[in-house]
Amino acid sequence: MNTLRAGFSVVDITPPLNAPVVGSWTDRKIDGYKGPLSANTVVLEKNRERIAIISAELCEPETSLSNFVREEVERRFNIPKKNVFVAATHVHSGPKVTNDPNDHYSQNLRMQLVTGVMKALADMEDVRIGIGKSESTLFTHNRRLRAANGEIAMNWFDPKLLQDCTENEEERDPDIFSIRFERPDRSIKGFIINYSNHNNAMGGTYVNGDIGAYIGERLRDLYGKNCVTLLLLGACGDVNWCDFKDIDWPRDSFHYRRIAEHILGHLLIIGSNLEYPEIDSISAECETEKMLEREFNEYDSVIDRTFNYKPQGGLEVVQAKMKKEPLREHDVNTGIIRLGNDIVILTVNAEYFSAFALDIKKASQYKYTIISQLTNGCVNYVPTREAYKQGGYEVRKPATLLDYGAGEVICEKLKKLL
Ligand SMILES: [Zn+2]
Repeated sequence: MNTLRAGFSVVDITPPLNAPVVGSWTDRKIDGYKGPLSANTVVLEKNRERIAIISAELCEPETSLSNFVREEVERRFNIPKKNVFVAATHVHSGPKVTNDPNDHYSQNLRMQLVTGVMKALADMEDVRIGIGKSESTLFTHNRRLRAANGEIAMNWFDPKLLQDCTENEEERDPDIFSIRFERPDRSIKGFIINYSNHNNAMGGTYVNGDIGAYIGERLRDLYGKNCVTLLLLGACGDVNWCDFKDIDWPRDSFHYRRIAEHILGHLLIIGSNLEYPEIDSISAECETEKMLEREFNEYDSVIDRTFNYKPQGGLEVVQAKMKKEPLREHDVNTGIIRLGNDIVILTVNAEYFSAFALDIKKASQYKYTIISQLTNGCVNYVPTREAYKQGGYEVRKPATLLDYGAGEVICEKLKKLL
């Protein structure tokens, strides 16, 4: 039987100065750099089956980007499109990606991601996979607080204004996964790591890869400069790292490091007790379904506790523009990567709510069930039906685009893939 093989690569995708910054409703430009941005790739091969996974330090690239990359990879390298996955780490201090042929950054980015697969193919070696899991919610908070008057209040406001609120601590996914790729001499080639939290604790208009990039940097310190880490972000549409209960929680620009060091600690604990399951086969599939955008409703423009009784600035501008346009159809992409009989990675191209991930994991028969959101594009937030009834930021159009119940439909699709 063939052994499992894997190749890793890193390509630079740092945007130029003054390029538009993504991740906010207001127009911002890149003012400087706190680090580069990269796209990290692994290609896996077993019994002639090949799977490519790209983890790009981008915020929420449109599905057209991953469609281009997946088609090019199929055409050039004979890896079927259904086996190619482009995940975003959801950095909020990075570039806006467009389809504009005059946007040189975005045009070059598309080819850089394809180049990353080519480089990984030139790096293929025999590997064995070690995997383990830990749990923590120390820096993970459900950001949809319930205020005393029943409204949803978002946890990113001044904690002093939120002390009448309670947090739904049930709805956050505590899992931290580490998949470690070892060469025959036991040296470490790379990692796939997975945890569920917004990757925007540094933020700002200076380019940086935030929590995920810092974890990758520290793993390079430990295991050598060629060690490549792919972050696959779990379902974190409704969670972030803002602790409203702690009036003094540090809003300094180093908070991302505290979170990263904490996750790193868990990765090291996992690393001391890995399991090496038999990987006798690998396979993948993914498919796109068109789903229609919902109509605007009254709640989309209500000024309530969601924005702390303030208008949200740019959101209203975007809403006014969208109201003049016809409703669009959106490509909802769901997929699965199977590594042997124990490990499965389910993918969805949305900012998916924690409750869905918890539900899927409960239903899964696999020993290791990993969710990778914002993979193969982005159809914005996909909340639960319950969340639509409650209100809050994520259920407003265009923070969300799909109709009520779309999240539940996607959840059933993902469960069927298991
Ligand atoms: Zn987000």
